[in-house]
Amino acid sequence: MKQKQIFLCAINNILSGTCQEDCKFCTQSVRYHANIERYNYKNIEQIVSEAKAAKANGALGYCLVTAGKGLDDKKVDFVARAAQAVKAEVKDLNLIACNGTATKEQLTYLQKHGIDSYNHNLETSERYYADICQTHAWSERYETCKNVKSVGLALCSGGIFGMGETAEDRDSLLNSIASLSPESTPLNFYHPNPALPIKTRNIELDEAVEIIKKARSLLGEDKLLMVAGGRELLFNGKESLMFEAGANAMVIGNYLTTQGIEARSDKKMLDTLGYEVATSCDTH
Ligand code: SF4
Repeated sequence: MKQKQIFLCAINNILSGTCQEDCKFCTQSVRYHANIERYNYKNIEQIVSEAKAAKANGALGYCLVTAGKGLDDKKVDFVARAAQAVKAEVKDLNLIACNGTATKEQLTYLQKHGIDSYNHNLETSERYYADICQTHAWSERYETCKNVKSVGLALCSGGIFGMGETAEDRDSLLNSIASLSPESTPLNFYHPNPALPIKTRNIELDEAVEIIKKARSLLGEDKLLMVAGGRELLFNGKESLMFEAGANAMVIGNYLTTQGIEARSDKKMLDTLGYEVATSCDTH
């Protein structure tokens, strides 16, 4: 019998912690003075060498993330140059850009320079969004996701659970994500930071498992369902629960501003549980 395969994705924060927006869950906002590394454009050679390391660790997806509300001319040019450089040196890597709100023209430009997929999360329900962010609207997020689909890029869209939302908000978020039919959905579980206005995480392990199950049934069997940020807080040592619930992908290495689990330990965990690391993006 074929073993279940797990897809690995790695993230590179190529512009960190300089965002003027007020998302209450995000350490990259300059408003909350969280103790994180902040830098402007990372050196492209360094991005390429980090992409090679992620690929060697089994990553099939590689995400170039920039802090900030969205793309502007300078940022789009930088991400395109970084994408081109990674594509030239690392083969068989699904290259994802995650750069906030984006127009169709900007997305087309990234696509022409090697980006395969665009990540833009809805974050939470439309109703709850105003409680966690006042500087931009949920509808702008949804619009960017539609732009991604309309230019023919693969859409990666998910959200964060445990930020004080209700059960209805969680269902609403999952339904909104499903309405976009994304190729890949990252589920994040809120990681509290003392500098942030949202102080606690209101989600337990059993609720997280239910969210994964609901997401899988809404999104269909052929899509990537990824457990991303907060995995080590909720599932450490209980990873089998997330895969049994329907997850078939996870983020390896570090997150944007928090440390993850060493890739070697994750691969050992998958092996112990009887899962294979996927070597192709085909989910069938
Ligand atoms: S727009 Fe993005 S980078 Fe800026 S604060 Fe919100 S989530 Fe963080």
